[in-house]
Amino acid sequence: MVIDALVRYVASKLKDNARFEAEQIVMHVLGIDRTGFITDSSRAVTDDEMRIINETAARRAGGEPLQYILGETEFMSLPFKVNRSTLIPRSDTETLVEHVLEHMNGKSCEILDIGAGTGCVGISLAHYNKNARVTELDISFDAINTARENAGINGVLGRTKFIKADILNKIPDGAYDIIVSNPPYIETAVIGTLQTEVKDYEPLSALDGGEDGLTFYRRITEIAPKMLKKGGLLAFEIGYNQGENVKKLMEKNFKDIRIIKDLCGNDRVVSGRGA
Ligand code: GLN
Repeated sequence: MVIDALVRYVASKLKDNARFEAEQIVMHVLGIDRTGFITDSSRAVTDDEMRIINETAARRAGGEPLQYILGETEFMSLPFKVNRSTLIPRSDTETLVEHVLEHMNGKSCEILDIGAGTGCVGISLAHYNKNARVTELDISFDAINTARENAGINGVLGRTKFIKADILNKIPDGAYDIIVSNPPYIETAVIGTLQTEVKDYEPLSALDGGEDGLTFYRRITEIAPKMLKKGGLLAFEIGYNQGENVKKLMEKNFKDIRIIKDLCGNDRVVSGRGA
């Protein structure tokens, strides 16, 4: 089968965004890049490759996110490994990274990233500010290992530390200029209503923010003053409807509280400065 026909065949088995995803699957299995569609357009596809392509297309058609199948994604124009121990980085989260980059303005900073997952938030901050040092904290050992691999891929390993800890039960040592977090923030009862790709594949521990979705915001705003240097920044990603609630939680210990919108116009980030 020539490659173009192969892409059409895979696309016929998929639903949304079928052509794009079929191309990604074919490139991944055949080990070619986009130029390969032209230079290798009439290359023979072996039985083995065909079998793997069929298996891969079936996984995708069954709801497994493309990013888990490919094992990687892009965030802030950087490559990140992903697997089922980590949330898949979202473009919404770039709002948080852009806000913190603007705040740092290239200055030397110690950052704590709570709920590292792939490490996409902290690693992007370290990549785009060469004067930043980042500590990646996560409850999952597998996520920490993934974040470590991603720090290496993105050239920031020398400025990155890793802590495996449960933030709900431990207060990490250290004094930071910035604490950043995209914590689990979905209300427990809502998780069952999410699309298959999310509810059946992404780690529950990265999604579940407790009954009201605010468990991690409550805990982190309470303990952050113990870990922040004077006047340090606390910046969260939030769900589109959590701005006012998180702002209220921050009012006790923080000033200059801001709610920032994402590119879709939804509230997406809340930040404030410690006393
Ligand atoms: N910090 C990671 C991200 O933004 C993981 C977030 C999470 O697991 N809730 O993708």
